[in-house]
Amino acid sequence: MYKTQMEAAKKGILTKEMKSIAESESMDEKVLMERVAKGEIAIPANKNHSSLLAKGVGNGLSTKINVNLGISKDCPDVDKELEKVKVAIDMKADAIMDLSSFGKTEEFRKKLITMSTAMVGTVPVYDAIGFYDKELKDIKAEEFLDVVRKHAEDGVDFVTIHAGLNREAVNLFKRNERITNIVSRGGSLIYAWMELNNAENPFYENFDKLLDICEEYDMTISLGDALRSGCLNDATDACQIKELITLGELTKRAWKRNVQIIIEGPGHMAIDEIEANVKLEKKLCHNAPFYVLGPLVTDVAPGYDHITSAIGGAIAAAAGVDFLCYVTPAEHLRLPNLDDMKEGIIASRIAAHAADISKKVPNAIDWDNRMAKYRADIDWEGMFTEAIDEEKARRYRKESTPENEDTCTMCGKMCSMRTMKKVMSGEDVNILK
Ligand code: SF4
Repeated sequence: MYKTQMEAAKKGILTKEMKSIAESESMDEKVLMERVAKGEIAIPANKNHSSLLAKGVGNGLSTKINVNLGISKDCPDVDKELEKVKVAIDMKADAIMDLSSFGKTEEFRKKLITMSTAMVGTVPVYDAIGFYDKELKDIKAEEFLDVVRKHAEDGVDFVTIHAGLNREAVNLFKRNERITNIVSRGGSLIYAWMELNNAENPFYENFDKLLDICEEYDMTISLGDALRSGCLNDATDACQIKELITLGELTKRAWKRNVQIIIEGPGHMAIDEIEANVKLEKKLCHNAPFYVLGPLVTDVAPGYDHITSAIGGAIAAAAGVDFLCYVTPAEHLRLPNLDDMKEGIIASRIAAHAADISKKVPNAIDWDNRMAKYRADIDWEGMFTEAIDEEKARRYRKESTPENEDTCTMCGKMCSMRTMKKVMSGEDVNILK
């Protein structure tokens, strides 16, 4: 009857995924279906991902967050990464991207898909070298597509494909000096392959074949920004915009085939450029959902890049970004451990929620109002249960016990909440007694 969510929406068929998303996001079913049909909302839901609880990404929906995981040559422990998957799902990650970059990644990917109720994304170009066990330059264009097909068969919901880095973009890149060149891992691999083989981007050249695979499995394409800025100096330059224009053209081709699209974006970027970048993406890519990797608003904070990216992510999402890729304190330094991952998720969820309040996402502000009431009532148990990180809130309170239970060790009996509560109910405040 239909192959993809987009085809169903165009035919006026309300899928079970659309129905559950409309209900959980308090959006009218018809409005949601229209937006899926237009491509403004993507529902990454591979037909072979049976454990998935589908979510939507796009116009009018809550901002989603992604967690990157996966094994590397220096940290190849699959079990450790699977432990992180469990924690990421418990901490309400909406998506998990497997960025494994070493050896045979199939074992981790398959286990991840089986256990993940969150959307699963991958970057097949990372996998190609390990999959074929041969050097990058020796991989054939068709072989890259075969890796994509393998990921689709395994049940991957969305794949990052750097199809916008075509020959024209490469030539423009060579004429425009940057400090950090190409920082996208997949983008740098595709650039190297094109240069070593003196060839066009295999995904750009074979885009229709890629669409065949994605249509068959309803695998969403997340069009990667190979030329995203890797430092503030390189942001919003000719290369980045050139690639964005191409991504807009590819988006239209995909939508004609009912393949869902998400557009990836920067990167590192000064605060005053973020809103303009969001507007440009929405205009040039026809309101396709926008997924940003940061943006990190300064380059000088290794160890704290969950904060630099949460600042940029909140501003970007408030301006219309739909999907935030988390960044951990380990960014630029090492593979994140479990604690890095937790901090990254919390920072990203704060950014997403702050933006949702600004975007007037239904019910977003209710959470804050519940917390505010518990604070005014000095109801510690209520405050803990509403805290975005309940464990940390409980631990901090326990580590510094006040003399009076209705205060904390910051102001003691000068607690403004206590004073106002007492005075407004006609009691004395008794600060000295
Ligand atoms: S004592 Fe001060 S910081 Fe602590 S809850 Fe009361 S007003 Fe807030």
